[in-house]
Amino acid sequence: MNHLFFDLDNTLWDFDKNSKVVLQKLFLDNGFEKKLGVDFKIFHDFYYKKNDELWHLYYFDKIKKAELRYRRFYDSFLNFGLDNLALSKEISEEYVRISPYSKELLPGCIEILEHFNSTHHLHIITNGFAEVQNIKIDNCGLRNYFKEIIISEEHGLTKPHVDIFRLGERLAKTTADKCIMIGDNWVSDVEGAVGAGWKAVYFEGNKKAEYEHQNISCITSLYELKAII
Ligand SMILES: [Mg+2]
Repeated sequence: MNHLFFDLDNTLWDFDKNSKVVLQKLFLDNGFEKKLGVDFKIFHDFYYKKNDELWHLYYFDKIKKAELRYRRFYDSFLNFGLDNLALSKEISEEYVRISPYSKELLPGCIEILEHFNSTHHLHIITNGFAEVQNIKIDNCGLRNYFKEIIISEEHGLTKPHVDIFRLGERLAKTTADKCIMIGDNWVSDVEGAVGAGWKAVYFEGNKKAEYEHQNISCITSLYELKAII
């Protein structure tokens, strides 16, 4: 039996949608429209890029978790003229506390897990933070679908480093040729998996595949997995 390893954020759990709803609530409840002099959309466009940039630094060990968490707010507020570290940290804490309870999954998520449940071993490899990812997995009823749930922080390893894929093989008691990684991040999911000798399915969102490779397939919806796996 082959092994499907899913990424969590923006592959199963709709991070972008869930995050945006929570950010908008925090933005409005705390009067940021006035404090920053911009509407939520303009703030969010900047925050989204900044968050992505900081996560990239985190993957490559350039910044630590605590810094990532407050800096995405601090840098975004600063961009609109508000220099307030204490407030940034406060909002960051509130965001991390509330957001994992959001329940929006990507379309087809449960149907696809049900579909592959009897024909494949299903696992998760996520780079997120343990206390947050576990809440999302439990709150959305995902846990029972998966044999191994590998949360990078619990092992001191992050995708795209090859060691986290080797760990996946060891825990799942399998070999690279039987593993497929499915994820929305070109570097951490796709290049990481292919570098470990796995096949990869790239879930294209806003960003298209960067190049073609014999071990990489692309989908734009989870439903397409039925046709290619
Ligand atoms: Mg992801």
